[in-house]
Amino acid sequence: MQLTEMKAAELVAGIAARKFSAVEVAQAFLNRTEKLKHLNVYVHLEPEVVLDQAKAVDKRIAAGENPGPLAGLPVAIKDLLCVKGEPTTCGSRMLKNFRPPYDATVIEKLKSAGAVLYGKANMDEFAMGSSTENSCYGPTLNPWDTKRIPGGSSGGSAAAVAAMTAPVSLGSDTGGSIRQPAALCGVVGLKPTYGRVSRYGLIAFASSLDQIGPFTWDVPDMALIMEAISGGDSRDATCVPDPVPNYLAEIEKKPEKLRIGIVREFFGEGLDPEVEKSVRDAIALYEKLGAEIKEVSLPHSKYGIAAYYIVAPAECSSNLARYDGTLFGHRSADYSPANDDEKKLPALVRMMMASRAEGFGAEVKRRIMLGTYALSAGYADQYYNKALKVRRLIRNDFETAFKEVDVLIGPTTPTPAFALGEKSADPLAMYLSDIYTITTNLAGLPGLSMPCGLSSGGLPIGLQLVGPALSEAKLLQVARMFERETPWHTKRPNLTV
Ligand code: GLN
Repeated sequence: MQLTEMKAAELVAGIAARKFSAVEVAQAFLNRTEKLKHLNVYVHLEPEVVLDQAKAVDKRIAAGENPGPLAGLPVAIKDLLCVKGEPTTCGSRMLKNFRPPYDATVIEKLKSAGAVLYGKANMDEFAMGSSTENSCYGPTLNPWDTKRIPGGSSGGSAAAVAAMTAPVSLGSDTGGSIRQPAALCGVVGLKPTYGRVSRYGLIAFASSLDQIGPFTWDVPDMALIMEAISGGDSRDATCVPDPVPNYLAEIEKKPEKLRIGIVREFFGEGLDPEVEKSVRDAIALYEKLGAEIKEVSLPHSKYGIAAYYIVAPAECSSNLARYDGTLFGHRSADYSPANDDEKKLPALVRMMMASRAEGFGAEVKRRIMLGTYALSAGYADQYYNKALKVRRLIRNDFETAFKEVDVLIGPTTPTPAFALGEKSADPLAMYLSDIYTITTNLAGLPGLSMPCGLSSGGLPIGLQLVGPALSEAKLLQVARMFERETPWHTKRPNLTV
């Protein structure tokens, strides 16, 4: 077996046992990445920087030290997690020259676990999108079919693993940005409970929804990475201090009694019949394995997209206000007045206007305008405050459902990967691809997507599991039950290199 075909657990074990070196592993992924450049997975990747980290790990192992549970493991990083001294651009012209002076907490944790930071993965600008087409670097291509999108906004992170250019990666999920690309690229993606993983050093989109999580080939690798990145952090006040379970040990346990809820609202209009069939087959398998299956309802989920597209833009309009060319972000070189009206404005204001006009792409501008409107005096009660009430009702729906069942099951996305360009002119159609994932963020709950089938066109299909707050161990356990019985997590795209 080639090194690039190995799972994270195998790589870590092999490096520790000195069957192969961290440098050999890094070099194998670098060689493969070089041959798959056309996928446009990475926006910054410096082979020297990767190899230097791997060399340091090998040196420590040779000296008899234990560099940590992820020693020598390459991890691709979504381009919105701050890595000290390395470009961190959020897929935006606005941050093209940004090199953070500090590491995000997850990056610190990866480093202290001995991981090798492997390049910055492409993404929709400021994590706004579902296809990675909103990146200033151009779209990432889906490794299963290069005429299709990989999903988004963490499309680069999902494709990095699917194309075997990295064994694992990190992404972020505000409304579906880990689970949706995981589903469309045929890998496992987990959005942890809000607060399980520190957001310190994650460039904010919508702070009450954002959460960092991993992409892996299977559930044991997911458990491995989750153990390394989870836990309390005094630098993120919303981070939960509860102890991190031993996820690796938990996944091998079989739940004694398992009640699974089928979300009625997730099987309605717009669901592709092949996706539905794969998900129903998965449910039948769980039943065969002894789970009790019940239908449950999340009656307010139909307002999920509408509430999200008030709350998320509102928070984004505030978070992105700092990028105006004064202290943060791109500064326009030419802001001479274009007309008489602009002549009346102070130069500073013209500089800010020009910097924002040049620095942000169309979708980000749309969100800022939506959010500013929803928060403006006189409209906040009609929009923002109302959306917060809907958010509470959505959360209550989940609480009611979890009185009856342990986990919820359904499709991750309504369809398999769509074609490049298919939805880019229609923002509403694009927004609908998160219809099954968005409510989980509004309620702050953990959600996992795992491969559960292939369409007749050979495209991956994702199964979503959602649990109560801090039920990651249970979700992983339930996902692992499915994985043991099915081949889907072993399927790889046919890429010629
Ligand atoms: N697709 C959603 C959006 O565009 C969610 C993005 C995300 O989770 N970061 O906002």
